[in-house]
Amino acid sequence: MKSFRRELYFEIPTRRAFVNITGQVAECVRESGVEEGLVLVNAMHITASVFINDDEPGLHADYEKWLEKLAPHEPVSQYRHNVGEDNADAHMKRQIMGREVVVAITEGQLDLGTWEQIFYGEFDGRRKKRALVKIIGE
Ligand code: ZN
Repeated sequence: MKSFRRELYFEIPTRRAFVNITGQVAECVRESGVEEGLVLVNAMHITASVFINDDEPGLHADYEKWLEKLAPHEPVSQYRHNVGEDNADAHMKRQIMGREVVVAITEGQLDLGTWEQIFYGEFDGRRKKRALVKIIGE
């Protein structure tokens, strides 16, 4: 069995953003040499997500609005976690959008649905953060 590990780094200048990382994950699959297997991609921070959905700006704006409704950033005083920091909303947004995705690798390619793309979701940016790519297979 082959195994491959890589960390992807992000330094998002804004508090929140969605970054399409499908190309970077596909490059990891190519480098791994795995033809049949699985790739796991997970955020290595509790205020960021990795998820799969459509790369459509309207949808991303809808996510932003929906997440702000569920866990508004302001007022930061509404959260008990915000003692010495202001990112309680980011922890909650990450929980809803998820920690990781697992994608099948078939014939050396990401076996995604037609409109499926892999995203890194940042909810407390403006600092260096990372995601893990782990590939196993043969
Ligand atoms: Zn926190």
